[in-house]
Amino acid sequence: MRQTGANDKIRQVDLRALEILLYPDPRLQVACTPVGEVDGSVRALVGRMLELMFAHRGVGLAAPQVGVAARLFVASPGFDPEDCRVFINPRIVAASGVQEGDEGCLSFPEISCKLKRSARVTIEALDLAGRTFSQEAEELAARIYQHEIDHLDGRLLVDRMGSMARLAHRRALRDLQQRFEKARTT
Ligand code: ZN
Repeated sequence: MRQTGANDKIRQVDLRALEILLYPDPRLQVACTPVGEVDGSVRALVGRMLELMFAHRGVGLAAPQVGVAARLFVASPGFDPEDCRVFINPRIVAASGVQEGDEGCLSFPEISCKLKRSARVTIEALDLAGRTFSQEAEELAARIYQHEIDHLDGRLLVDRMGSMARLAHRRALRDLQQRFEKARTT
């Protein structure tokens, strides 16, 4: 039996209607399902996600951020349309060292906080042709990949923040919360 994974969900996506979800949308807080087969609908979703990522001046975007609970993300660590990277069903297979640096997220506009991440990671994933590849990354790329994989597990910036950072950003977090409540009730 073929495993369809997240494919049924992906086929039903209206690509033109996709938009980047903001905290605290509950769709950002679910564990995503692996992609079963890298087909045309997966490639179309990836294309649309790359458009949205560049339009919002991001360097990484995970499928749950556009409301699709599938394990895939796109990235461009140098913010270069010529260098788009796609990771389907990604896994961190090795990690070493520690780096600390500022981290932001398209789902938390105007918030950036210092976070500790592994300095180097090796990721295994499928590419757009459905082939397994392995990529080593360090510095910003390693940070982006760890951030995006967190999204696939429903883990957000706010879950990684320490209590001091949460306090420092309490107003921005409250504004996001209020904006979400308002959008839901109107
Ligand atoms: Zn993010």
